[in-house]
Amino acid sequence: MAIEQTLSIIKPDAVAKGVIGEIYSRFEKNGLNIIATRMLHMTRKQAEAFYAVHRERPFFNKLVEFMISGPVMVQVLEGDEAITKYRELMGATNPKFAAPGTIRYDYASDTGNNDVHENAVHGSDSQETARVEIDFFFKREEICPRTR
Ligand code: GDP
Ligand code: MG
Repeated sequence: MAIEQTLSIIKPDAVAKGVIGEIYSRFEKNGLNIIATRMLHMTRKQAEAFYAVHRERPFFNKLVEFMISGPVMVQVLEGDEAITKYRELMGATNPKFAAPGTIRYDYASDTGNNDVHENAVHGSDSQETARVEIDFFFKREEICPRTR
């Protein structure tokens, strides 16, 4: 048992589709407690900073445009092995390769051939990234681990 926290984003495509509740339901059914949450419409500067590791990638500008195309929900999820468990629930980055039953399979907006994959959700990929990404959006006092 290793209780972890991870940063989740419901991206603009999924917010626009009206599936925030369905995605939240998957978190709750799979032992991922939502311990902080907020809606925001990212600025270009914020999106560029959040995805700075991808700055040199060919899809970077499209990714930024996508992420600022509408509001997003950002949340901290906590649970046993939350980082890996949430990555499994999300499915592959390219929705074309996401396994049936994963969030990206069910809710992604592109067919895998767009300039940037509109793939419904983001999730941290390691403990180090999770800490940095949680701090990017939330102050410590905004995070509310369960007491019951
Ligand atoms: P993730 O951790 O599964 O979200 O994937 P990455 O961190 O590698 O990439 C960040 C985001 O950039 C992805 O979620 C996609 O929206 C987009 N992206 C990543 N790789 C590609 C790619 O090869 N082609 C396209 N079109 N978009 C990509
Ligand atoms: Mg990533």
